[in-house]
Amino acid sequence: MEENIKQNNIILEAREFASNEIRPFAGEFEENGGIPRELINKMAQKGYLAASLPEKYGGLALNPVDYGFFTEEIGKACASTRSILTVHTSLVGETILRWGNEQQKDYWLPLMAKGEKLAAFALSEPDVGSNAKGVQTSYVKQGDKYILNGRKKWITLGGIADVFIVIASEQGKITAFLVERSFPGVSTSLIKGMLSGKASYISEIQLDNVEVPEENVLGKVGNAFEYVVATALDHGRYSIAWAGVGIAQEALDAMVTYSRNRTQFGEKLRSFQLVRGMIGDAVTKIHAARALCIRAGEMRQQRDSDAIVETTIAKYFTSKVAMEVANDAVQIHGGNGCCSGYPVERLFREARVLEIIEGTSQLQQEIIANFGLTKYYKRKKLK
Ligand SMILES: Cc1cc2nc3c(=O)[nH]c(=O)nc-3n(C[C@H](O)[C@H](O)[C@H](O)COP(=O)(O)OP(=O)(O)OC[C@H]3O[C@@H](n4cnc5c(N)ncnc54)[C@H](O)[C@@H]3O)c2cc1C
Repeated sequence: MEENIKQNNIILEAREFASNEIRPFAGEFEENGGIPRELINKMAQKGYLAASLPEKYGGLALNPVDYGFFTEEIGKACASTRSILTVHTSLVGETILRWGNEQQKDYWLPLMAKGEKLAAFALSEPDVGSNAKGVQTSYVKQGDKYILNGRKKWITLGGIADVFIVIASEQGKITAFLVERSFPGVSTSLIKGMLSGKASYISEIQLDNVEVPEENVLGKVGNAFEYVVATALDHGRYSIAWAGVGIAQEALDAMVTYSRNRTQFGEKLRSFQLVRGMIGDAVTKIHAARALCIRAGEMRQQRDSDAIVETTIAKYFTSKVAMEVANDAVQIHGGNGCCSGYPVERLFREARVLEIIEGTSQLQQEIIANFGLTKYYKRKKLK
């Protein structure tokens, strides 16, 4: 009970923080090409950079469902800020928590919680996306070090992160390394012209003969794909599922306000049946999406063996809902919806990418179909 009240307070405080410190400036963050360091520091002071991590590492110890609500609150206000938080906390922090040794956890997690070290996850490459097992970034062992060479692309936070989980391969044996920006041979360049994530420092990373000490291997050599990568993407998908709810809810709030204020043909937009249809659909889809996310969160909390696939289902569904609702929100705003003076223009762009990141919708459909083909097979012979 006491724990519940504490967690609820954190979420309410996050809502207020987002309203005061993030939402009013989301457009400005995009124009400036990044959320300010000052905001990252403020979020660190509040524990937001480690919201789901245990208190002993400086985290807020939110359970999965409450971490979902927290993600929704931040994601409603600004998708770039949400993506920075969840890459740092979930894809990297929770993955180190799961697969790091005691030394790695004791060193990295408190520094990450305090925001003294920002962390990014580097899997994708110019020629490797969905087929992530085919990473071309290479490693070879040399004495007590590994030498890494390759190029990573689309790395959220890449422009300012201090450390990267880099996924590399040696003839198909995939290994994860904690590569520090300060290592000679590491360089990053910001990617310009992004449709979304304009303020989340999305970058390329170049690795030229980077010497990585063997103590920086995360997990075991050769099996990172099944463990480190699977964990990181699972956490990433859970975050994206809730991010979708956040964007959809923000778009619904905007379309409700606009339709109650805008007059055409002498009547408010909200009185036109076709507009009401879009609002009715949005409410329904968002309620369904949030319920699915809560269910995935509860299953994660209970360590249910189907939690991973339920998370995939939630990610697939909510990212579609976010796109559909944001699309209708632009429609209801008419010309104003096509201009950055109204937040739905940004929400529309931010929703679009949810169907691509952490595994595209097509890849999610494959996973869900495989699950369904097994789970719902009644083993009856067709007559
Ligand atoms: C804003 C943003 C942030 C990102 N952040 C990160 C990050 O922090 N770290 C990171 O490592 N990566 C990141 N990425 C990369 C992202 O994970 C990839 O873009 C994504 O995995 C898809 O890979 P791809 O772009 O190479 O597309 P491709 O794999 O080339 O796919 C192109 C199209 O083909 C379809 N397709 C591919 N294979 C199949 C198949 N077998 N069956 C059916 N359809 C298929 C896909 O669904 C898609 O529609 C980010 C990307 C963006 C846009």
